[in-house]
Amino acid sequence: MTVFKVGKATVTRIEETYLAIYPPSELFPAWTDAHLKEHGHWLVPNHYDPDSRKLKLSVHSWLIELNGRKILIDACCGNQKSRPLRPWWNMLDTPWLDRLAAAGARPDEIDMVMCTHLHHDHLGWNTRLKNGRWEPTFAKARYVFSKPDFDYFRQLDLDPATAPAEFGTFRESVLPIVEAGRADLVTGPHRLDEFIEILPAPGHSPGHFVFKLDSGGHRAMVTGDVFHHLLQIFYPDWNFPKNSNADDAKASRHRVLEDCAASGALVFPGHVGAPFAGYIEKSGTSFRPRF
Ligand SMILES: [Zn+2]
Repeated sequence: MTVFKVGKATVTRIEETYLAIYPPSELFPAWTDAHLKEHGHWLVPNHYDPDSRKLKLSVHSWLIELNGRKILIDACCGNQKSRPLRPWWNMLDTPWLDRLAAAGARPDEIDMVMCTHLHHDHLGWNTRLKNGRWEPTFAKARYVFSKPDFDYFRQLDLDPATAPAEFGTFRESVLPIVEAGRADLVTGPHRLDEFIEILPAPGHSPGHFVFKLDSGGHRAMVTGDVFHHLLQIFYPDWNFPKNSNADDAKASRHRVLEDCAASGALVFPGHVGAPFAGYIEKSGTSFRPRF
């Protein structure tokens, strides 16, 4: 289990999967063998698997414990969710809930669930299957969703040409929470409390958020999918293929990296491999990870 301290906050990584998934050029068309030569010394083994020649991506949640509250950030893919187009995350049956319990939180102890955005790999554990219905996993939690994302995916879900939105995720992992009256739809920037601020970082999805945490003079930034891989810190113009607006995704990445470097924040991304969190440094017109 990977645990970090940010002032008085404890931040624990709850792993769902950590797999070599994508050939680099499939994610980043600008990738060449020269990049492997230049970056191989840090890419292998945590960020690139030389046997399969694929980039490694983690899917995990961050559990924040602060001021007597337990906040879960992002909820992975979930169990028993059908994703035939994403075979490595299809019909999972992982002990993610056991890992969460081992980190100190049973489902009914979670006070709040916050999703950086409404893609299928950040929402799955919002609900679980009970008697054939998708029910809220965290029965006592408020769930904080991006309103711009909610509006966007609801529209896609209502349109027969695009429904069901996000492989069915919207119906399985978002609507049951809203219908149970447990969702708070938020438009950023929005201060949640004295410790956490919600900031817009659109592009990967229209309402993508990052979460800024301040405690005891220390800062963390939970950055979701502003970047998926540490290569994008060296090359901030390299977009992940899936975006609602590619130009916005690039602009948000530059702005968030700039802000993380300037503030010295400990950065908690959504999919970066071990050691999973670290710092960003400015380097000329680009950046370097200190993970
Ligand atoms: Zn993601």
